[in-house]
Amino acid sequence: MFGLRQWRRQRLLRSGGVEEATWLRAVNRFSFAIRLTGQERKQLRDLVVLFLHEKQISAAGGLVLDQEMKLGIAIQACILVLNLGIDYYDRWVEIIVYPDEFVPRHEFRNEHGLVETDETSYAGQAWLHGPVILSWADVANAGDADGVNVVIHEFAHKLDMLSGAADGLPPLHAGMERRVWHAAFAEAYQGFCDAVERGKDTWLDPYAAEHPSEFFAVISEAFFEDPKETQRRYPAVYEQLKLFYRQDPALR
Ligand SMILES: [Zn+2]
Repeated sequence: MFGLRQWRRQRLLRSGGVEEATWLRAVNRFSFAIRLTGQERKQLRDLVVLFLHEKQISAAGGLVLDQEMKLGIAIQACILVLNLGIDYYDRWVEIIVYPDEFVPRHEFRNEHGLVETDETSYAGQAWLHGPVILSWADVANAGDADGVNVVIHEFAHKLDMLSGAADGLPPLHAGMERRVWHAAFAEAYQGFCDAVERGKDTWLDPYAAEHPSEFFAVISEAFFEDPKETQRRYPAVYEQLKLFYRQDPALR
């Protein structure tokens, strides 16, 4: 089965995919893509073609999605798996895009056993084994290298969840050590939470203090969008992200 799948993918890549001018217009919007080598850009483009073929990107709430919008989402999703491969996004297919922030209104049981409704609005969500949900207003603002990128954020959660739960620990590669990962992230996270608690202005979005999984997603945004500063501020975390993503964006 694996062989057949690879063969289908190869055939899909040979048959073309994205038109050159459309590709260039879409990819050059992203600072992280401009710094890629020719070979890496080719790799990114192949991943994007497979991603658009294997995932279903649908609009909700009256939004109209065109090819270029879908391409933009795919490019940002695929930068994370540039050297990991598209299989890292296996076992789920759907991406749903709302025009703006959305309110999932899901019900949950509070600590007293009563059913409550969550009325929080979100720019994005990633569900375990389920869809990625995005707000187009926030997606459209991504890509300007300000260190904030909702697409990278949600797809980082997807990678984190590959180990079974969103806990800030994605499946590490052979040669990486859980102990080293944990030491780097625990120290950075603790320091960050302390700073947020003291009301200090933080370089990363204070939302990163919510949970170790949010810290991983938020610092992944920074890793791709502002790698040099991420490396300067969080050298041990940067090193672990470099090993996990198999990329060294600060060198580009
Ligand atoms: Zn998140």
